[in-house]
Amino acid sequence: MADKQGIAPTEARQAEPEVPPDESAGTEPEAEPVESSKLESGAEPEERAAARSKTEAGCPIAVKFLGPRCCRRLHAAPAGVDEQPVCLMHSKDPSKQSGPLFDAFWLEFERILEKAGEGEAHFEKFVFPQLDFTRRTFKAICRFDGATFTQDSDFRGATFTQIAPFRGATFAQAADFFAVTFTEDADFIGATFKQNPHFRATFTQKAFFSRATFTKNANFFFATFTQDAYFAEATFTLDANFFGATFKQNATFTAATFTQRPDFERAEFHGTADWRHSRFLDRAEFRHTKFKPKEEGIPSAIFSLAKFAKPEEVVFDDVDLSRAIFLNCDPSEFWFTSSVRWAKRKGNRGLKVFEEDILLDPKLAKLQEEYGPIDHGAVEQIYHQLKKNYDARLDYRKANDFHFGEMEMRRLEVRTYPKLLKPWGWLRRWLGPEALYRWASNYGNGYVKPMLWLLGFLVLFAVLFPIPGLESGQPSPTPAENYLSVWNQQDTWTDNLWTEAKLVGDSLIASIDTAAFQRNPEYTPAYPWGRVLAILESLLTSTLFALFLLAIRRQFRR
Ligand SMILES: [Zn+2]
Repeated sequence: MADKQGIAPTEARQAEPEVPPDESAGTEPEAEPVESSKLESGAEPEERAAARSKTEAGCPIAVKFLGPRCCRRLHAAPAGVDEQPVCLMHSKDPSKQSGPLFDAFWLEFERILEKAGEGEAHFEKFVFPQLDFTRRTFKAICRFDGATFTQDSDFRGATFTQIAPFRGATFAQAADFFAVTFTEDADFIGATFKQNPHFRATFTQKAFFSRATFTKNANFFFATFTQDAYFAEATFTLDANFFGATFKQNATFTAATFTQRPDFERAEFHGTADWRHSRFLDRAEFRHTKFKPKEEGIPSAIFSLAKFAKPEEVVFDDVDLSRAIFLNCDPSEFWFTSSVRWAKRKGNRGLKVFEEDILLDPKLAKLQEEYGPIDHGAVEQIYHQLKKNYDARLDYRKANDFHFGEMEMRRLEVRTYPKLLKPWGWLRRWLGPEALYRWASNYGNGYVKPMLWLLGFLVLFAVLFPIPGLESGQPSPTPAENYLSVWNQQDTWTDNLWTEAKLVGDSLIASIDTAAFQRNPEYTPAYPWGRVLAILESLLTSTLFALFLLAIRRQFRR
C-alpha cells in the first residue's frame, strides 16, 4: 500500500532550498526561515481544510517547522494511536513492528533512499519500527530530524558519507552507534536517548550533541572526536561515560547537567575542554584524564562558574592542571591527589594557576576577551581557595606554594590613589609592605632569606658604627674612637690597618650586642648618631628574627 503513494511531495521538498545545518551549537534546531508553504498544492486555506476533512489530502505532518506537508496517503491506524490521521511512515501504529505493514514501511524507506541517490532523503518525523542498519553505507543526505525510533536501532558499523542530521530525534529503545563512521558533521542536537545509547564511534567532523537528553547512561567510551565536540546544555541523567574517549579538538560541555557521575577517566583532550556553567549534581572524577592541548597558550580545562553539588566528592587524580581554569568555581573542597600537576613559578617560588598567566602575560590577554575579564582579586581568590584546600588536607607545603601566589597577587594589585599619591601606587609594588614581606622572606615561606638579611645587617652596622664613633664603656669610659682617630697611631700602615680591623671587630661585637639587646655592652656606638644607628639596627634585626621564626614555624608546622 505504501509504495503507491504520490511522488509530488518529495519533489516539492527537493525544489526547496536547503538550509545547511547551523554549526553553532547553541542555535535553535528549528529556527529556519519561514518558507515553502507556497510549495504546497497551491490551494486556498479553506479548500485545504475542506479537502483534509475528506481524508483525501494525505498526511498532514509538516516535515519541518512551517515546511511542506508529507501528503502521503493516510494510514488506517487503530483509533487513538495517532492524534490525527497520518500516513504509515508517520503513524505510531504498533502493528508496524512486523508483518505486511513492517514490509511496506521499509519498502517506502528504500524507495526514498534510492530515489535520493546522493541527494537528500527525507525521513523527518518518521516513526521507525525496529531497525537494522548494520554495516550499511548511506550515500544520501539522510534527514532523520524529529524521527522516533520506537524499537532498538542498530547502526553498528554503518557509514554516513554525507551529513545525517538526527536533530530532535527520539530513541525510545537502545541506540547502537558502535563503530559508526560519520564522514560529515554528526548532528544530534536536541535528541533524546531514553535507553543506553552506544557511541563508540568515529566522528570525522564536528559532533553536535547540544541540548541532547540522555535519560539513562550515555556511553561514549573510546569514541574519537576528530573535530570539535559539542555537548552544550546536554543532560546526562545517569552515568556519562567518556572513558578513554579522545577529543582531538575542543570539547564543549558548557551548561551541561551531570545528574550522576561523569566518567572522564583516561579521556584525552587535545584542545580545550570547556565545562563552564555546567552542573555536577553528584560526584565527579577526573582520574588519569589527559589534558594536553596541542596549542601553546590555550587553557586545557575550564571550570569557570561550574557548580558542584558535592564538591567534597570531586576527585582530580593524576591530572595535569597546569592550564586549568577554576575561576569563580571554588576548588577549596576538591580532592587533588598528590599526583596532580600544577604549573611551577619561576625560581622555585611555589605553584601557579593559569589565570595568573592570563592576567599578567600580554600574549594571553586575548583569552580575557573570550573567558571574561580576570583581575588580581579573582586570581588571589583562587590561590586562597587552593591554599585552604591543601591546608585542610594538612599538606602545608603545597599550601605555602599557593600562599606565595596569593600574596603576589596582593602585591601586584592595582589600587587607585588620590592624585598626590599616584607615584606610590606604582612604588607600592616594589616598596610597599607586601613587597618588603616578599624581599625579606618570600611572604613568610623562606627562613634562609631573613637569616641572611639578619647577618648582612649585623655586618653592615658593624661597618657603620665606627663612623660616628665607638665608645668603650668598661672598665672606665674612654673617648669615642672612629676610623679617623685610630689611623696613624701606629708606625707602619700594616699596623694601622690592624688597628682599623680591630675597631671593626669591636664594632661587630657592639652590633651583635645591640641586636641581642645586651644591657651592659663592652662597646657602644657614640651619642647621638651612633645611638640612632643602634636603634635602627634593633628594629631591623628584631623584625627579621621574627620573620625567621615565623618561616621556621610555617615550614615545620605539624
Ligand atoms: Zn506522513
